[in-house]
Amino acid sequence: MSHFIDQETMRAEEVIEKFRSSGALLEGHFILSSGLHSPLYLQCAIALEATTIAAAFGLAIADEFRGDRIETVASPAIGGIVIGYEVARQLGVRFIWTEREEGRMTLRRGFQVHEGERVLVVEDVITTGGSTRETIATLTGAGAQVVAAASIIDRSGGKADVGVRRFSLATLDVPAVETTACELCRQGQPAIKPGSRKQ
Ligand SMILES: [Zn+2]
Repeated sequence: MSHFIDQETMRAEEVIEKFRSSGALLEGHFILSSGLHSPLYLQCAIALEATTIAAAFGLAIADEFRGDRIETVASPAIGGIVIGYEVARQLGVRFIWTEREEGRMTLRRGFQVHEGERVLVVEDVITTGGSTRETIATLTGAGAQVVAAASIIDRSGGKADVGVRRFSLATLDVPAVETTACELCRQGQPAIKPGSRKQ
């Protein structure tokens, strides 16, 4: 596809192909969870419905971190949970998640980290890096050492900075812009928020 960054590996192309073949890659005019508008939307939950795909993505991410003595994988709910669990399972380590409580990312459900615990943060898609940064801050605040962050897709074109080493299976360079800068809005095309109840 045209949004695809050419220098990526064959594996990245396979990742995108799995999204496309499972109907998880939409083209049109979309409102992302970050609030930004984009002509492309990745519905990760649809790709991850196929447990074989989730396992394949999880393995590819896990392989990248086998030498890092990861003790725990942590993901922001809900989007990161399926892939985070798969990565943790394949690394043979425990899995926890963070979630929002009154807007703030928190560790709930009795989840704890110990001082210096080596944590890998895993998300489905990184767009601005916001939820990964919040998850890292929550874990660090609880005493953990966040070693790295990973995602299936990086749709920041590699630009998102989360303050730790970062890895993605595939990197996309697609416009994600504020409403005021959106060409599709200017053309009067209605924007939709995929997966929202209003559809
Ligand atoms: Zn728009």
